[in-house]
Amino acid sequence: MEKGEILFYLNNPEKFEIVRQLADKIRMEYCGDSVHLRGIIEFSNYCHNNCCYCGLKRDNKNIIRYRMSVEEVINRAVEIASLGIKTVVLQSGDDLNYSCCDICDIVNKIKEKTDMAITLSIGERENSEYKAFKDAGADRYLLRFETSNEHYYKVLHPGQTLKRRLEILDILRKFDYQVGTGFIIGLPEETDNDLCNNIILLEDISPDMIGLGPFVSQSDTPYNNYPNGDITKTLTVLALVRITTKNTHIPATTAIGTIDKDGLFKALNSGANVIMPDFTPMIYKENYNIYDNKVSISIDMAKDVVKNAGRYISSSRGDTLKRGY
Ligand code: SF4
Repeated sequence: MEKGEILFYLNNPEKFEIVRQLADKIRMEYCGDSVHLRGIIEFSNYCHNNCCYCGLKRDNKNIIRYRMSVEEVINRAVEIASLGIKTVVLQSGDDLNYSCCDICDIVNKIKEKTDMAITLSIGERENSEYKAFKDAGADRYLLRFETSNEHYYKVLHPGQTLKRRLEILDILRKFDYQVGTGFIIGLPEETDNDLCNNIILLEDISPDMIGLGPFVSQSDTPYNNYPNGDITKTLTVLALVRITTKNTHIPATTAIGTIDKDGLFKALNSGANVIMPDFTPMIYKENYNIYDNKVSISIDMAKDVVKNAGRYISSSRGDTLKRGY
């Protein structure tokens, strides 16, 4: 798809059904009808960064912070495996309180006790740490670039650069991770041209997994007064990403389920083939408040959505479709 065509669909929401149907056909052709469930544990809401849109930002004093112990994370992962789920996603803010050894320990022990794939989503670390996590057994790494607009990236992420973000994605690939990235749709000041460039950048990176979420405001951030991302625009982008990247794993994200009560179902019908049920323990999950009114996707909710969409739950790990795993 050329840039002009992508922009045309972004600018013309009444044409959504055309891209949705094409995306659904391509999803069927490249990924089939199965949906992969990835169990997520949000194990720490501490973060040393200060991203403008995120409730976990360092300067937010209106949040009760928590950290799960290494043992708690391992035990929770074992529970996820006992339900037959084949991937655990370990997510946190950029929390350097967990040393490289701590993360390796968690990965190692989960690998010893289960046959699950492990996805890490713990932000920016030293290159040597990415290598250590991989050697410990981590299979995949998620690191969204959020926007391809270099100037806007700096505004959104004080002290961070898009250049380093993209460099890390390259390093992760070199260390043989299955790599996930993605971006936010509907950020204040974001243009359709920015979204189009994001989609084109994805084609260049050729990630194994792509996470796309609408902007959802959070009351304790500088962006608290901006409207949430639009569902049709979000699904249009999702469909366009499916069309342009073909055999990528694309989740129906929690943020999509947050802005629209049928969002997960609609996302599955617009190109998505993954759902990530939330296994963060009840006592912590309400404080993983990256944005307001975040829904918690339970395993039952995920199963219902898959069934209602006329699809079935995959019994495989759902490794990358790109590199012959
Ligand atoms: S978006 Fe990520 S890095 Fe930024 S403040 Fe939130 S948790 Fe931290």
